[in-house]
Amino acid sequence: MARVLIIGAGGVGSVVARKCCQVEDVFTDVMLASRTPAKCEAIAAEIEKNGRRIETARVDADRVDELVALMRDFGPDLCINVALPYQDLTIMDACLECGVDYLDTANYEPPDEARFEYSWQWAYHDRFREAGLMALLGSGFDPGVTNVFCAYAQKHLFDRIRTIDILDCNAGDHGHPFATNFNPEINIREITRNGRWWEKGEWIETGPLEKMVEFDYPEVGPRKSYLLYHEELESLVKHIPGLERIRFWMTFSDQYLKHLEVLGNVGMTSIEPVEFEGCEIVPLKFLKALLPDPASLAANYRGKTVIGCVFSGEREGREKKAYIYNVCDHAECFREVGAQAVSYTTGVPAMIGAMMMLTGKWRGEGVFNMEQFDPDPFMDALNRYGLPWTVTDFHGSI
Ligand code: NDP
Repeated sequence: MARVLIIGAGGVGSVVARKCCQVEDVFTDVMLASRTPAKCEAIAAEIEKNGRRIETARVDADRVDELVALMRDFGPDLCINVALPYQDLTIMDACLECGVDYLDTANYEPPDEARFEYSWQWAYHDRFREAGLMALLGSGFDPGVTNVFCAYAQKHLFDRIRTIDILDCNAGDHGHPFATNFNPEINIREITRNGRWWEKGEWIETGPLEKMVEFDYPEVGPRKSYLLYHEELESLVKHIPGLERIRFWMTFSDQYLKHLEVLGNVGMTSIEPVEFEGCEIVPLKFLKALLPDPASLAANYRGKTVIGCVFSGEREGREKKAYIYNVCDHAECFREVGAQAVSYTTGVPAMIGAMMMLTGKWRGEGVFNMEQFDPDPFMDALNRYGLPWTVTDFHGSI
């Protein structure tokens, strides 16, 4: 019996709400709140067609006072934050004030600087611990499931993991010349910053998208994959002992990169405000207004995502490599919950993370990353709730 407050009614929020409603014995009462109430109401109406009712509300999650008033009114046990990374700290503050557990899928980002780091949220650890509350960070797919794959490899497959390569492939086609699969602002900030990986105790930096490999993904074949910095590298370096190297790769089509290059060259991907006809505008925010809403891509999306981790290391004195991955089909996600696979692969793990917390399978006081808990119940739930995974030996090199 638990009451859950979901904040954010975008592509991911819609999947979280629908998946929570599929698990009625855990999520007995659900509220979906966001900045634009009409979006919450539209999702609630779809859910009602399947026989479940959820409450909806309007909230500006940049404002702690509004969040506190909403939490006092609804009385949630847990708040799932799937708004934007800018709201993480205000929502954590409200959770502390109201005695509510917290979960998100993306690290806090200051609006005026792209950082992708956990420092601000890790700084809340003592306050959550003292309040007897739990905050679970990054319960999406990457970060999220990829961290759980690492914990699983450490528990079941290796005595020591030496290297991890996280590989995120979207081989889908939405039919638009250029669109992003989740919030364009966050997505473009992530891709246009310098690449970075960790090796032998040091962070090594490259220019944006400078390093590329072609990786042969199961079910979709070889794809160009570019090295990016991604936030889970920071927590995994801390929590996987003996690690020598960790990198993150993501696929982009030539068409996507061509558009991004031109937009970058003309200054449209910048987060520095510019003056335009007496108004100050942030070019990237304006670009977001022009691009398709990620949730709207779902209806015509075809193809698959393949996201997973390649490990090398030692088992009983022998060198070994393994690959753990999930394949998710855009059109099947649409049939099930009206979403594309990028929203689905984020929303399902958010629901599962919440379920782990509410059923007591994952408990702790303070602020935690996913790899700090027993991976087994989470891995079982992935198979049960729509994201089945495969473990296989790996024979190639990256
Ligand atoms: P969308 O932009 O589609 O949705 C964001 C939602 O948050 C919108 O409904 C928006 O409201 C709402 N929102 C924004 N600001 C506020 C505010 N101040 N107060 C209340 N609500 C607000 O994004 P996505 O659904 O694609 O992504 C959601 C989150 O998931 C992001 O943080 C993203 O980084 C993360 N993510 C994580 C992944 C992972 O694997 N870990 C992968 C993909 C995404 P409005 O409709 O009014 O704009």
